Amino acid sequence: MGSVSEPHPLVAELVKRHSITVLTLSSPEWDERLAAYIIDNPAKPVGIARPKSAEEVSTIVKAARSHGVKISVRVGGHDVAGRSIADNCLVVDLREINTIEVSEHRGTATIGGGVLIGDLIEKLTPLKLVTPFGYFPTIGYAGWAMMGGYGWLASRFGLGVDQILRARVVTSNGDIVEADAELLKGIRGAGGNFGVIVELGIKIYPLEKTSDIKATLEKYFSGYNKMEKSPYGGCGPFWFPKQDDMSQWMFAVNFNWSSPDLDAGRKYLQQVAALGDGADTTLVKETTPTELINLIIAWSPQRVHGIKAGNAISFQSITERPAKVLGDWLSKRPVDTANVLLVHEMRGQSAEPHPDSCFGARLPHGVIEIVGVCINPDHIVASTQRTQELRQGLKETGDALDVTYASLSQTRDTDVGKLFGDNYQFVMDLKNKYDPTGLFDNTEPRLRP
Ligand SMILES: Cc1cc2nc3c(=O)[nH]c(=O)nc-3n(C[C@H](O)[C@H](O)[C@H](O)COP(=O)(O)OP(=O)(O)OC[C@H]3O[C@@H](n4cnc5c(N)ncnc54)[C@H](O)[C@@H]3O)c2cc1C
Repeated sequence: MGSVSEPHPLVAELVKRHSITVLTLSSPEWDERLAAYIIDNPAKPVGIARPKSAEEVSTIVKAARSHGVKISVRVGGHDVAGRSIADNCLVVDLREINTIEVSEHRGTATIGGGVLIGDLIEKLTPLKLVTPFGYFPTIGYAGWAMMGGYGWLASRFGLGVDQILRARVVTSNGDIVEADAELLKGIRGAGGNFGVIVELGIKIYPLEKTSDIKATLEKYFSGYNKMEKSPYGGCGPFWFPKQDDMSQWMFAVNFNWSSPDLDAGRKYLQQVAALGDGADTTLVKETTPTELINLIIAWSPQRVHGIKAGNAISFQSITERPAKVLGDWLSKRPVDTANVLLVHEMRGQSAEPHPDSCFGARLPHGVIEIVGVCINPDHIVASTQRTQELRQGLKETGDALDVTYASLSQTRDTDVGKLFGDNYQFVMDLKNKYDPTGLFDNTEPRLRP
């Protein structure tokens, strides 16, 4: 039934009673809309319905059923044998059900049943997110994922079927249902056999650059040591654990620019960013000291375990030897989410001798702060041990300065004689003058043993 002049009664009903867009052979867009990967498909469907919602799909399914017409679902049209366009069936072209929503926690996305792989990846990439995907962007995601879903990232995250968390389905009697565990199991492998999938909930993942942390670190320091420094530009490199799975350390640089000449600041930032491959500078913005402090507070735990897990060691600059030790150490997994490693840089004004201060470390240098503290008390022993290993390794380079930063170091690692240098006697005389009985001896740096 149905011809160019007389549409199939199902098509006529859908158009007339339900105002659903249905193309027939006489529609100008017929050929374009029917076009699929296989060109020489002789199948002649009775029409192409283009629903915009699950409700429209439900109406189509009910109507097709009452007319005894089978439907065939098409999205990307990449079925290798053209089976989504079948003879005497109503093609349900889902490509207008194509919304993509990323959850607030960025671990899942809700996508329409008509979403193409390319559109999904295009949406996720600028958000620095990804999910496994097949080789062709024009393949429908649901059709790809439901039947297996081989492709990029499968060895890391699994097949397409493994990404499907939930599904909204229009069943053969037109009901719109949320798939239960049994139906989901069927959908994850047997595709559209059980209904029209109008929505899928899928897993998504952070899009990370996989880089060699050791090489990145060495490149950063060798470049930074050669870079002409501005007194307005401050760079504090730091490493923190990848928070979701603790599998590796992430590398970042606290960048600050303290001159009103922002153009010069942007250029300086670009110079620093060029020291790391593909560094992301989008988080750098104008800020206020208050905002900065609040950011740090929001980011850092306020109370932690690990009384012996913090330490520091100083170098004039992070040359090849200490960089190698740091790189080797960072190649191992972090122990606790609170672990951090950072470098405080001392140069410009802060590195110049000041006759009115007894602070000893008045020379250009970097303090490597090893923060082995823990949120989880079960990690204290391992984390403390790793702190000590790193400090020992750095010390064994023979390049460390005699001075260290007392407030970040364990007491036994601070040599007060070296810390105060020429001012040592002055400091001791002052101590004896003002605190002869040792009332205040529990003070860092400890002047008396
Ligand atoms: C060039 C090419 C490259 C390919 N590359 C890969 C690859 O890298 N990895 C891989 O695993 N596969 C690949 N395939 C196979 C492809 O993933 C499957 O054929 C997939 O089903 C195509 O989906 P589609 O929506 O593009 O195709 P369509 O022809 O539109 O649909 C195919 C079938 O999927 C079902 N279907 C699709 N969407 C729905 C839905 N929302 N609800 C219910 N049923 C639905 C229907 O039964 C339909 O007949 C490739 C195929 C081609 C032709």
